[in-house]
Amino acid sequence: MRSEFESIYRLVAEATKVVITTHMSPDGDAMGSALAMYHWLRCRRPDLQSLTVILPTAAPDFLMWLPDADKCLVHDRQREEAEQRMADADLIICTDFNEPKRVGALAPALLKATGKKVLIDHHLHPSDFADVIVSVPEAPATCQLVYELITAEENTPSLCREGRGGSSIPTCIYTGLMTDTGNFSYNSRNPELYRIVARLIEWGVDKDAIYNNVFNQYSVDRMRLVGYCLNQKMRVFPEYHMALIYLNRKELYKYNFQSGDAEGIVNMPLQSKDIYYSCFMREDKATPEEQAAHNGCKTKIKISLRSQGDRPVNILAAELFGGGGHANASGGEYYGPISSAVQRFLSGYTQFFKKD
Ligand code: 5GP
Ligand code: MN
Repeated sequence: MRSEFESIYRLVAEATKVVITTHMSPDGDAMGSALAMYHWLRCRRPDLQSLTVILPTAAPDFLMWLPDADKCLVHDRQREEAEQRMADADLIICTDFNEPKRVGALAPALLKATGKKVLIDHHLHPSDFADVIVSVPEAPATCQLVYELITAEENTPSLCREGRGGSSIPTCIYTGLMTDTGNFSYNSRNPELYRIVARLIEWGVDKDAIYNNVFNQYSVDRMRLVGYCLNQKMRVFPEYHMALIYLNRKELYKYNFQSGDAEGIVNMPLQSKDIYYSCFMREDKATPEEQAAHNGCKTKIKISLRSQGDRPVNILAAELFGGGGHANASGGEYYGPISSAVQRFLSGYTQFFKKD
């Protein structure tokens, strides 16, 4: 058992008011890890005075079927209540992010909060804002670490099966494992991953239903947006085995863009032979806090990068777009017109990408 787990069990045993939080624009691993912790705590500490999951921004529709996803507070919609819960909590569990910046406008409340903080994450270089840190960059998903934490305690599966948890815990964990590995197609070579999957299935997961819930529920608008991206917007740079797609607000509006609709588009160019790098950019509205921090700039460009094999994209993400992430999946942000973000990328990528 990892030594930090004992400390987490102790903090969980002493807590009375618990907040769980994760990164903004939560993905399957963020929602899965936060909600698995939520269901575990409901089983383990039914006597808690309060237990709240706070999302910095709303989850996309394709994750709202997760058990109790609708009970999460969303900071950018319920700001006062979320910040009050954060201030009142004596234990704050942070999952799937490595630095406070990743919770966006919730960061000041998180940093000011006096409750004990636990961080469970698989991104490189965690900042030391938490009292207990479980940081395992080799783990394919934070959900794997949550699985280890929950099952290192004897009898947890039976406790939660008989208790109120039902199959909620394994369902949340499986969702994070599946989404952060692209349905077990990258970061997924470790045999332990499949032992965990086997145990999750024994524990009650319907893996085919989860796949269907996550990957086969897109809106028709999103399908047409994908068609538009691939047909009209994908620029290919054969020398560097790279593809670039970017969308401005007008284009997003035309396709009735909803949060989550861009999910997975960045991976698609990699399905072509000889394309190993992919970059996707999308123009977003900056929040009031982001505008204040960036000279009143109203547009925020969200950049996503993907690659295959030994071709890290996180260095480019960090150096050109103040971001980071994993070697094959990273991202960053840019404040300014999308044309400038594209320009920055196009004039810089040759320093970071390989030709072969
Ligand atoms: P996505 O492209 O799905 O938004 O992000 C892929 C991965 O890149 C995330 O799991 C996260 O590790 C990283 N990432 C995305 N955006 C940012 C960012 O703005 N800053 C940092 N540090 N990492 C990011
Ligand atoms: Mn993750």
